[in-house]
Amino acid sequence: MIAVIKQGTSKEQIDKLIDWIRGKGLEVNYSQGSQETILGLIGDTTSIDAELLDSMDIVESVTRVSEPFKLANRKFHPDDTVVHVADGVDVGGGSFQVIAGPCSVEGDNLFAIADAVKAAGATMLRGGAYKPRTSPYSNQGMGERGLDLLVEARERTGLPIVTEIMDPRDLPLFLERGIDVLQIGARNMQNFPLLREVGKTQTPVLLKRGMAATIDELLMAAEYVMSEGNPNVILCERGIRTFETRTRNTFDLNAVPVLHYLTHLPVIADPSHATGYTRYVGQMALAATAAGADGLEIEVHDNPPKAWSDGGQALLPSMFSELMPEVRAIREVVA
Ligand code: PEP
Ligand code: MN
Repeated sequence: MIAVIKQGTSKEQIDKLIDWIRGKGLEVNYSQGSQETILGLIGDTTSIDAELLDSMDIVESVTRVSEPFKLANRKFHPDDTVVHVADGVDVGGGSFQVIAGPCSVEGDNLFAIADAVKAAGATMLRGGAYKPRTSPYSNQGMGERGLDLLVEARERTGLPIVTEIMDPRDLPLFLERGIDVLQIGARNMQNFPLLREVGKTQTPVLLKRGMAATIDELLMAAEYVMSEGNPNVILCERGIRTFETRTRNTFDLNAVPVLHYLTHLPVIADPSHATGYTRYVGQMALAATAAGADGLEIEVHDNPPKAWSDGGQALLPSMFSELMPEVRAIREVVA
């Protein structure tokens, strides 16, 4: 981190600032030019509040030269992280996985959906048992019974299961069933106690980008999980909120190559929540594949008008099975 000091600042004031920085455990490189004085902060600058430093009367500007995320940073870990989910299912490092299934687990129809997505080539089954709903009066999901149905669907198909956890108090229910991937939804990307709790396990975490979160905030959320000891984080771009109203969210596909540049963690993309409309999901799934995503998460339902949630963006199993060969074809070209 570099702090440029305002012209006309007295040596005494600068010394006071240097003492303050040293008090935070950092070394200071002092450089007095003809026009300006520059302080280079050396060491772990996470102990410094950059905004606070910038707001000081004698400080002209503050520039970060290294990112605040360390464990997720590709600079310190150049090779791709491969998150091992189950036998034959690794995410990242050149593999490509497709997670498919309904938004909500609703009952026995899960089995028919699971069979269909498996037959089409999905490699993981998704379904929400605990649903984050905007209204407290909307269906909140089946809870524990939903987890049991997912486990049954896993036994039937062999597909590893991905499901959202919203409350750290529910974690034992997920762990005792060996849920293969813990999804942290967009609304909980900065639920720090939840991030820390899943960070204490070794279960893979699918961390979805918050709807108003920057790429750096997503990486700092990953850092929460990793700093507790769980390196198995998969990032997911699922669209962000912009001024555009013709789609549910705006699919920020820039995030895919940007994340690959900044971090070694695998990056998947969710064209269902990103677009919000069944008619756009297929094309954007292909676009995300072309952008270099390590996988996709796609909502599939056998009877979308009857779905408990997100029916308007669900693919029918037949649409999903038509899409999969196209995804594979794009993947061949870019991989
Ligand atoms: C979901 O996957 O069904 C979901 C709620 O996604 P998001 O958190 O991205 O909105
Ligand atoms: Mn959904």
